[in-house]
Amino acid sequence: MPEKLPPLCRHCGNAIPKRVTSIYVRDPGSPPSAMKDSITPDTFLKTKTDCEQYTEFQVVSVRYWPEPERHITRFGVWDGVTYESQYFCNDGCAKSFGYLMVREGNCTRKYNEMVKLQAITRTPVS
Ligand SMILES: [Zn+2]
Repeated sequence: MPEKLPPLCRHCGNAIPKRVTSIYVRDPGSPPSAMKDSITPDTFLKTKTDCEQYTEFQVVSVRYWPEPERHITRFGVWDGVTYESQYFCNDGCAKSFGYLMVREGNCTRKYNEMVKLQAITRTPVS
């Protein structure tokens, strides 16, 4: 099945990032840990395929411990459906979009209600 296209940011048009969870890879033989989102494999993980056997989700990134014992210390998984946001790639774009909408004359119903209330209750200036 082809991968569904990611939603695009309503402000800048870039793809909205996938919501990725990091899975921490503890060294083989490490004592049990209550650390959330971690695994303790039997051997060092060397490839993305090695990581895939420890998750039901898509492995979208891996981070390596450097040479000489190059192995994976963390990998990112995606559930295949969840993105960071429904509409924006980041909070900066959401904010910029808000300013753009206001400059174009848009506002909320609540804002209009409060403007009317303010006009009614305003004390006349002499
Ligand atoms: Zn954006």
